[in-house]
Amino acid sequence: MKKLKCYDCEVTFQAETREEILDALYTHYMKDHNEVITGASEEEKKAWMVQFEKDWSEAENVA
Ligand SMILES: [Zn+2]
Repeated sequence: MKKLKCYDCEVTFQAETREEILDALYTHYMKDHNEVITGASEEEKKAWMVQFEKDWSEAENVA
């Protein structure tokens, strides 16, 4: 189980897999940060994914 914090608020997420946390983050962004998704350019979306991949791979396992 790994933990990641939302980039735009204080909500944290825990998941076993990358797909699982990406799904949770996406649902959260659609609900609470819709303007971030709708207002982001392709470059910003790519940069977000790069940051996410890095943070996910470096995230420490929590019990
Ligand atoms: Zn958030």
